[in-house]
Amino acid sequence: MAKDIYQTPTGMHDLFAIDIDLLEKIENNARKIADFYGFERFEPPLLEFTHLFEKGTGEFTDIVEKEMYNLKTKGGDLLTLRPEYTPSIARAYIQHGMQNLPKPVKLWYCGPVFRHERPQAGRFRQFHQLGFEALGSEQAVLDAMIVQMFTALLQTIGVKKILVQVNCIGDSQCRPAFRKSLVGYFRARSASLCPTCKTRLKKNPLRILDCKEEKCEKIKKGAPQILDYLCKECHNHFKSFLEILEELEIPYALNPYLVRGLDYYTKTVFEIEEDSEAGKMQGALVGGGRYDGLIKLLGGKDTPAVGGALGAERVIGLLKNRMSKKPTPEQTVKIFLAQVGELARRKALKLFEMLRQANLQVGEALHKDSLSAQLKMADKACAQYTLIIGQREALDNQVIIREMKSGRQKIVDMDKVVKELKNNI
Ligand code: AMP
Repeated sequence: MAKDIYQTPTGMHDLFAIDIDLLEKIENNARKIADFYGFERFEPPLLEFTHLFEKGTGEFTDIVEKEMYNLKTKGGDLLTLRPEYTPSIARAYIQHGMQNLPKPVKLWYCGPVFRHERPQAGRFRQFHQLGFEALGSEQAVLDAMIVQMFTALLQTIGVKKILVQVNCIGDSQCRPAFRKSLVGYFRARSASLCPTCKTRLKKNPLRILDCKEEKCEKIKKGAPQILDYLCKECHNHFKSFLEILEELEIPYALNPYLVRGLDYYTKTVFEIEEDSEAGKMQGALVGGGRYDGLIKLLGGKDTPAVGGALGAERVIGLLKNRMSKKPTPEQTVKIFLAQVGELARRKALKLFEMLRQANLQVGEALHKDSLSAQLKMADKACAQYTLIIGQREALDNQVIIREMKSGRQKIVDMDKVVKELKNNI
């Protein structure tokens, strides 16, 4: 590639009409579900103080250690392009005194996030997250509500067979004992761990559990399991969450290795994937969990909360792969406008605008000269009628209306075309 041809930065991509259509479809369906469940739209700024993520997301997470896009403003502020929404939501909850609102405060969002990750299939440096968050209740029914909302969203947009991976990672009461025994177990086997997990052993030992390196996978099979360490409160919470999932008939799998990469999670963690080969390749479509300690950690009142985020690009990737080559309803038109000759072309553009004003959906190829090429296009767009303005019709200010299926034709005055079409369609 010649040096003077610019390209998008690594891991960032242009969105084409098909991507934007699917993104809007996801967002529109989410809006309907959010409205029904009483979640209000919220949008924090793209930039926040770096410290918010260092503290909120967690110092020893991959995001903070390696993936943030940081910048220093002319005024000397250290800001970060958001790598995720949850710390911003918690910051806003405190900043705007949302603790005084009736609880739970239920919010949803959709927008771009930035992570300087190693790009690979389904992993980008700029992507969109759509999330639902409920703040102010410790009830397990809210954990299930969030899962239910994502399940409903995925199903309405065409991801029918889903699987929810679930785990409970305890809280400040029971996790320290688990962590201690986990560290003991892995320390005794540290020589066989991958280099990343050797570092994790010191900083974030739970993350060793979701390492995908073969040698670590083998070792972790014998590792202590968090479910054996849960305190009564976490155990009851998890039990209740699973019972509600069963009631909802949402397919789930207990995954003791699911720990998620962020520090603030407590109790419930979950991921949703499509239950198929293609789905496994694409990775988790949704990830989330409870973060009961985050708002207090950021200086607010002790506030339990739960939420999750869907990665739009992963869902779009799945949907695009299975789209048929046939024109979608959006690509078909009932009417196609064809013309032959310069005068006809001029009149055609005028008629095209009249048809738009009359709210009719019409296709055109005003740049083309050949009538047969235009009729081919009309066929391809599945048009029921083609309007033809030939040289003769242009002079007489008339239009031929051709019914495509039967080939029957009728000549009408230009100013009566709209009425004629409305009577027939
Ligand atoms: P997380 O914020 O890491 O819990 O991720 C939530 C969801 O965002 C994941 O389940 C993915 O669908 C999506 N996601 C996370 N990282 C990326 C990425 N680098 N590129 C595309 N989607 C991502």
